Amino acid sequence: MYGYMGKILRVDLSEKTTSIESLDEKMARMYIGGRGFGAKVLFDELPKGIDPLSEDNKLVFSTGPFVGTLIPGSSRCVVMAKSPLTGLLGDTDFGGYFPREMKSTGFDVIIIEGKAERPVYLWIHEGDVEIKDAAHLWGKVASATQEKILQEVKDNKAKVVCIGPGGENLVRYACIISELRYVGGRLGLGAVMGSKNLKAVVVRGEKKVAIAREKELDTLIKALNYDLVNDGSCESLIEYGTWNTTAPAQVTGILPTKNFQRTSFEGTDKIDGEAMVEKILVGRRTCYACPIRCRRVVEAETPYKVSPEYGGPQYEAVASLGSLCLNDDPVAIAKANELCNEYS
Ligand code: SF4
Repeated sequence: MYGYMGKILRVDLSEKTTSIESLDEKMARMYIGGRGFGAKVLFDELPKGIDPLSEDNKLVFSTGPFVGTLIPGSSRCVVMAKSPLTGLLGDTDFGGYFPREMKSTGFDVIIIEGKAERPVYLWIHEGDVEIKDAAHLWGKVASATQEKILQEVKDNKAKVVCIGPGGENLVRYACIISELRYVGGRLGLGAVMGSKNLKAVVVRGEKKVAIAREKELDTLIKALNYDLVNDGSCESLIEYGTWNTTAPAQVTGILPTKNFQRTSFEGTDKIDGEAMVEKILVGRRTCYACPIRCRRVVEAETPYKVSPEYGGPQYEAVASLGSLCLNDDPVAIAKANELCNEYS
């Protein structure tokens, strides 16, 4: 099947078993990938009325047919489970390099079920799956977790998604942190990882996705990349990242302010795109195969030391940690963002 690796990995943490299932063409055509796959698995397999933080919940990591190709903007991994925040279908997604790496292990979908007796992490590499002890990682923040895991698997090219103490302590909006800076936020899927005693999922692979008409796709990708960078449609995203949203949100009266009591903030000019670029921006990053490079690299020394490793706050973090708190200090916003990434 073009566009797919054709395999689903199922991990039962209670039974400490793994199995491989085929991804059939009917499922691929009907549900395509990502949220389609996740929703299908949960709809079919979750019993009605389960507690989202019980071992009955399932966590589904899914990619789509474009992941692993050079199609710009396609490097996304979707994670779904019943949400502990809403009790409804919970979904999140993140970019970076984990999605491509996950697919390169040979699996389009990873279904994680049950609950480990003790903290564990999954090490998935070249079709091999190991459930490894993570008791020594429990309680550690994301950076320490990732550093230790990369030492243990002895492969610096492996990609790590993990939780920090927020997920371990079942905070109902805890996030999943990928490579320290790409975050699967909203709806508490980090808490679902914590409820399963699952500290991290680590992937490394070399498999390539099959492409039907590779030459034509290459030509299309070149044209797309050229247009994205040159036709002006992404100009402000390239220059300011998602900080391009702050000033327009203020002007149109939709900037979340003072714990949602107001919709505009008098300090916006200190935290809008231009101010953030001037005060804390030191570089740009990208996700796999994307020419836009909207991800921000930020750094500061005072009044808080902010490391460039965590990625700059996106618009949502600027609003949540800035205007919602009546905070107009870009460095304080960046530091709070760093701590959120560390603690998940
Ligand atoms: S760099 Fe920005 S625009 Fe490109 S895929 Fe990543 S998040 Fe999307």
